[in-house]
Amino acid sequence: MPVITSSKTQAQYDVIVVGSGAGGGQAAYTLAMAGVKVLMLEAGRNYDPVRETPMFQISAQAPLRDAGTPDKPWGFYDATVDGGWVVPGEPYVSASAAPGRNFTWWRARMLGGRTNHWGRIALRNGPYDFKARSRDGLGFDWPISYEDLAPYYDKVEMLIGVYGSNEGLENTPNSSSGVLLPPPRPRAGELLAQQRATRLGVQVIPAHRAVLSVKQDADNIPAKLHPGNPAAQGILADAMRARAACFWATSCGRGCAIKANYQSTTVHLPPALATGNLDIVTDAMAREVTVDENGKATGIAYLDKPTGEERIVKARVVVLAASSAESVRILLNSRSPRFPNGLANSSGLLGKHIMDTVGAGLGGHVPLLENLPLHNEDGAGGDHLYAPWWLYREQLAGKLGFARGYHVEFGTGRQMPNLGAAAGLDSLTGGSYGRQFKEDARRYYGARIYFSGRGEMIPNDDSFCELDPVVKDRWGIPVLRFYWKWSDHELRQVAHMQQTFAALIEAMGGKANAPAKDPLSVIRPGGNVKHEVGGARMGSDPKKSVSTPWSRAWDVKNLFFADGAPFCGNADKNPTLTIMALAWRTADHVLEEMQRGNL
Ligand SMILES: Cc1cc2nc3c(=O)[nH]c(=O)nc-3n(C[C@H](O)[C@H](O)[C@H](O)COP(=O)(O)OP(=O)(O)OC[C@H]3O[C@@H](n4cnc5c(N)ncnc54)[C@H](O)[C@@H]3O)c2cc1C
Ligand code: SF4
Repeated sequence: MPVITSSKTQAQYDVIVVGSGAGGGQAAYTLAMAGVKVLMLEAGRNYDPVRETPMFQISAQAPLRDAGTPDKPWGFYDATVDGGWVVPGEPYVSASAAPGRNFTWWRARMLGGRTNHWGRIALRNGPYDFKARSRDGLGFDWPISYEDLAPYYDKVEMLIGVYGSNEGLENTPNSSSGVLLPPPRPRAGELLAQQRATRLGVQVIPAHRAVLSVKQDADNIPAKLHPGNPAAQGILADAMRARAACFWATSCGRGCAIKANYQSTTVHLPPALATGNLDIVTDAMAREVTVDENGKATGIAYLDKPTGEERIVKARVVVLAASSAESVRILLNSRSPRFPNGLANSSGLLGKHIMDTVGAGLGGHVPLLENLPLHNEDGAGGDHLYAPWWLYREQLAGKLGFARGYHVEFGTGRQMPNLGAAAGLDSLTGGSYGRQFKEDARRYYGARIYFSGRGEMIPNDDSFCELDPVVKDRWGIPVLRFYWKWSDHELRQVAHMQQTFAALIEAMGGKANAPAKDPLSVIRPGGNVKHEVGGARMGSDPKKSVSTPWSRAWDVKNLFFADGAPFCGNADKNPTLTIMALAWRTADHVLEEMQRGNL
């Protein structure tokens, strides 16, 4: 991936984008394709999936046979480089270690951010999700509606390529006709779950994932995405033709050298660079947004990691997309006598109401899936089917005891075994060994199923971040301190997940592991699902929100967000598709405001 060094940056850009993940990649793409001169600053190193992805190595070839380690929690071949739960020299603080109060933070430090190894589950928020407070009186409404974002969901889905189907289910929006790619065929365990779940009133339908099940329509999509811009259309058509379709054999978590799944590094950045309008500086750790005497943003002060020098770059517009909490941190660190509490914080709400996805799961053994004929179930490297939330009416009628829903993701199949694939079989084998154990392993392999709930969290006053008064990173920049609390709504939601998953496994003729008695013992810690959003909530009142409905900071006319920071709620739908749709909409707004001479 061609990048420039700090010494080669121009004196002035139209726009600086901080961060190169889902939001930064999308914002830079939209702006560069429209002819705007963009500088992207990325704290991590340059990374090129085409050259660096270990597509075909098997677990047995890896150190420790691909077992997770602190710097590679998901195994040696996982795409994460220089990141994870611990980033050396870049600590953060969780104010509490108590169950339900602690916060864990997954960060990537590489070009493309977490899009290199994310799960690619790409769900739209539904109409209810934007107006949650109006429905049940809790949390916040967004100042925009589903209709505002729907055209951008279509555009992002067409650009990145998302497989799935339109089922017309409640609060589970259809994409426009022709936008989605065909879903892959379900695995055996998914088919069985689909069949038996109907007994519980649960509908199991094709998942939506950012994976090319077939090649994209490079002849027609570019004109739809860039009408009246033949140069952009040509560049995008070439970029789409350079992407192959999935060949159903490898692990998406390693990245994809053939560009079949969405990574910012394979989908957003190559065409944006091909315009000649995008410069990227990697190893550039943004510290502060610089402002002039009128409080307008002038650029970014950053640490050039290779030299250790601090540098300043300038632009008419600054777009923060460092991931929600990092963008908040940059603004809290943009303190000055004029802005003693940080920039864009006149409401005092910067860093407040952060959210994650509620996560808990349950597994079990399903005898009907034993001894299946040998076949390859690697598939598209993730879920082929899932179950959207199905109890909207019961919930609204107050019958469930918790206010928001969850969807169900599945872990099933006979993928390539890794270390631990045969662990825990003793309860079935009675402790066999030798030839008998090999036979048992073959019999039981693929007969386990694991259901994961992914639920909506209601924003609360006890979940927020601020600057730690003492701890600093290796460059002396103050770090974040996180405060967290799950409410009873989330804990009761998790109890419901456990009961549902046990019932699903039993409906499949299987035996579920024992559901937890105390939801606090199984709910994932804050941040642990890695869907953290919020902290610069958008709204229509500058006193009660940090950003406008266009994700612009209320206090700074030329400062925008393109990550999850402006989220008002965190629906059960995984957030990244919404981050990208919002980023495209924000970039369009920046273009319009630039053309009007307002920026
Ligand atoms: C294992 C895993 C699985 C996931 N699965 C899914 C899924 O299936 N579906 C889904 O919707 N979401 C999923 N997510 C979440 C998803 O990855 C994030 O929502 C998404 O990447 C957020 O995009 P972003 O652009 O805001 O941030 P990121 O992708 O994190 O990118 C931010 C970038 O900014 C850089 N940066 C940070 N600070 C600075 C700074 N000070 N200066 C310069 N650069 C900086 C970082 O190095 C990083 O490259 C998953 C995440 C993980 C880790
Ligand atoms: S499963 Fe498909 S999309 Fe995922 S890494 Fe392999 S080829 Fe790429």
